[in-house]
Amino acid sequence: MKLKLKAGLIMISVALALVGCGAANDSTNKAAESPKADAVVSKAIEDIKTRGKFVVGVKYDTNLFGLKDPGTGEVNGFDIDIAKAIAKNILGDETKIELVEVTSKTRIPMLNNGDIDAIVATMTITEERKKEVDFTDVYFNAGQSLLVKKGSPIQSIADLKKGVKVLGVKGSTSVKNIAEKAPEATVLQFENYQDAFTALKAGQGDTLTTDNAILYGMTQQDPNYIMVGGNFTDEPYGIAVKKGETEFAKTINELLTSMKASGEYDKIYEKWLGEKPSK
Ligand code: GLU
Repeated sequence: MKLKLKAGLIMISVALALVGCGAANDSTNKAAESPKADAVVSKAIEDIKTRGKFVVGVKYDTNLFGLKDPGTGEVNGFDIDIAKAIAKNILGDETKIELVEVTSKTRIPMLNNGDIDAIVATMTITEERKKEVDFTDVYFNAGQSLLVKKGSPIQSIADLKKGVKVLGVKGSTSVKNIAEKAPEATVLQFENYQDAFTALKAGQGDTLTTDNAILYGMTQQDPNYIMVGGNFTDEPYGIAVKKGETEFAKTINELLTSMKASGEYDKIYEKWLGEKPSK
């Protein structure tokens, strides 16, 4: 009787162990049952694969990073090439991508509304933004500076005194930073960078402020404008994904690392910025 019971218990334990093995090999069960497994499943990547398309928020107004050519309708730039590399990595084809226009103001709400899978749009990683989205590692290092017409008396932020009009873009770190660093100046905010640049050219302001890389793109569009005063902030760019999409961010980080190792990253950088990234 005692022996029979023991044999029965052994059989039950073997059966349970086998069931356990089955569950461990079945990833759907694992994801459903184990909270730890949940953390490694990316809803964003699953959505992209089901849809067969990576829907990404990019700028349409920023020369060298994401600029729409009104003639061809094509959008090109450094950020676009990075976004294409993500599409290729996940879907095996860089053309399986849909570019959606975002501005500095609309990009976080659009990501959190589910309009886009990620933001690749000259976006600085900040503690404040980290409360709303998750960021990848830094993929570009910029710094805030000033753009003026050649011959302007403004040469640095020290010249942004009372009465000076500074142009910037809504939702950018640039307008916040300048309000702190030059509190006496008047800041006029526009919807996007092309509008701000048009306003500068029309004499509506004395200087335009944002990241050096974006201002460099403007000097390429119109050589009558130059950058002055050096960089007065650090603007490390990250790709933003929805909060909790740790696995998606990790996948992009691994891609960035491999692009840097293979030289693909440097190639893209040089294509748009005209020089190799400084190490
Ligand atoms: N990198 C800055 C930011 O994230 C300025 C560029 C932009 O407005 O996208 O706000």
